[in-house]
Amino acid sequence: MALAPPRSLSPSKVSSFTDCPLAFRLSVIDRLPERPSAAAVKGTLVHRALEALVWEHAPGDRTVDAATAEIHRSWRAMHDDTEVQRLALTEDESEKLVADAVVLAHRYFELEDPDRVRAVGVELGLEADIDGLRLRGVIDRLDLNDDGDLVVIDYKTGRAPSEGFERAKLGGVHVYALLCERVLGRAPVEVRLLYLREPVTIVATPSDQSIRGQRQRAVAVWRAIERACDLGDFRPRPSRLCSYCSFQALCPAFDGAPPPARATVVGAAKPQVGPSPSRDRETNATAPLL
Ligand code: SF4
Repeated sequence: MALAPPRSLSPSKVSSFTDCPLAFRLSVIDRLPERPSAAAVKGTLVHRALEALVWEHAPGDRTVDAATAEIHRSWRAMHDDTEVQRLALTEDESEKLVADAVVLAHRYFELEDPDRVRAVGVELGLEADIDGLRLRGVIDRLDLNDDGDLVVIDYKTGRAPSEGFERAKLGGVHVYALLCERVLGRAPVEVRLLYLREPVTIVATPSDQSIRGQRQRAVAVWRAIERACDLGDFRPRPSRLCSYCSFQALCPAFDGAPPPARATVVGAAKPQVGPSPSRDRETNATAPLL
């Protein structure tokens, strides 16, 4: 059985395959709907508000009150989003979600002074061909520091990883460095992960070696996905992530049976290189970017 592989990979899809090939197949290839997640919706809300704070407000106007107003404005704009509708929140639940988003937006101010931010892009989609792989990623915010170097900013609304998991979590940030190098012609000097809940900032400093390593890893995962598609072999990989998985009922590890793959093609052609679907939010960047 041969399946059509996805047309492109993002850092989250790379992780999804390495975490559990079966969950990857059901989500990315079969495109089965996943449980709506209040945490994901809250994350989108906070991202939107913080991006608007630095993109639509001049320095001096990037205040706590402005961030609060952006949370409420973004929430109104998200009202009809499919993910929000599927959550079917009660009024009380909506109020709690927005109140917590406001708390996270306020904690952002403990991590940096937005008036000092020199953003050259927010919600910036980058794509590049790398050894036959179409790699894509969306950068929350791209800054210039005082020396004119690039700095990637990534907002996180979940918990910061413990020390043991930190290294693995940081693997994805080097994808952003790789994409910057390929698309913009130079790598960022830093990738800063702003964990708003704690709040704490984790800084990664990309190097030629880390970027080369990320490139090799992404291509290796791509080859593994191609092989899995050729053989129709996506095995479950049970882990603590199963608690959050939408597909337990379809998983042999939980006495379920996966449905036949929807995207089955006989003699599947090699993946086409083409534009990938973009995320809902608009990409904003200064023009020219640099
Ligand atoms: S329940 Fe666990 S093993 Fe099964 S598909 Fe989901 S993540 Fe994979």
